[in-house]
Amino acid sequence: MNARVLIAALLLPATTIAANADHRVQVGQGGIARWAEMDARECGFLGKRYPAVEGDCYYPVDYELKTGVHEIALYDRDGRQHLGAMTVERTEFPEVEITLPDDTYIELSPENSERHAQERARVLKALKVDADLYPRFTLPLHKPVNPLPKSENDFASRRIFNGTHNSVHSGRDAPVGMGTALDAVADGTVILAEDQFFTGKAVYIDHGGGLVSMFFHLSELSVATGDQIKRGQSVGKVGSTGRSTGPHMHLGVRWLNARVDPYLLLADPNELPSVADSAAVEQAKIRQAQNAEPAETDQD
Ligand SMILES: [Zn+2]
Repeated sequence: MNARVLIAALLLPATTIAANADHRVQVGQGGIARWAEMDARECGFLGKRYPAVEGDCYYPVDYELKTGVHEIALYDRDGRQHLGAMTVERTEFPEVEITLPDDTYIELSPENSERHAQERARVLKALKVDADLYPRFTLPLHKPVNPLPKSENDFASRRIFNGTHNSVHSGRDAPVGMGTALDAVADGTVILAEDQFFTGKAVYIDHGGGLVSMFFHLSELSVATGDQIKRGQSVGKVGSTGRSTGPHMHLGVRWLNARVDPYLLLADPNELPSVADSAAVEQAKIRQAQNAEPAETDQD
């Protein structure tokens, strides 16, 4: 076989791999899967196409997303689509009992009920961020406090207030003292900053790429709706406003509208479940083969 024929033969698998769904990853509900080392430009998941983060694709899995196999896509720098299969496994979230001093946050008065309805509408509207916006963040995100204390294992926990009322905790609580300044996890735009019935003084920040971070129960807000902020900039101070049993940091994130564990974004992204490295290695080999000039080596 001469060198040219051999190179042509080596190139054949490229198209096969691009069309095949043999890139696989497993992730739990509330987790994030990653597809790295292929110089991605865009990613696709659940019918959405959105920008990659520094050449890597991330697939945020809402804590209520249906278990089973979901298709994922990666678009490389040449616009080629690569398909993969992500298996979402069931996560068992804890159940926590919480005692509140009275029924204010359990049996809502008509006024509070109306107030909450209006606030909820504003939050839902604010959360409709443009996922096509170029990401203004890198991973890991900036830690809101340094050092970052361990949080309770309370993400997506079912909370039972005073033995009856139920709700799901969509963020994480960590023991951080009253008045401690909380830093923005990345550059962004403040999409909502106000004092709300349940969440107390709350701030929601759009970081582009479909990522929103939020802090609740602050004692003080130091930003206003519409502000442009920088990574590491203080956005407010720890408090215990709204439905809270004491001062703490509540951090939550939504990414492409999925409620995921925020602590996953504060850790090294290499720790996230990833599409097998062998695929990336394979891809690197294909690139090498494409860039190679007819083999002057000993292939003849
Ligand atoms: Zn909380």
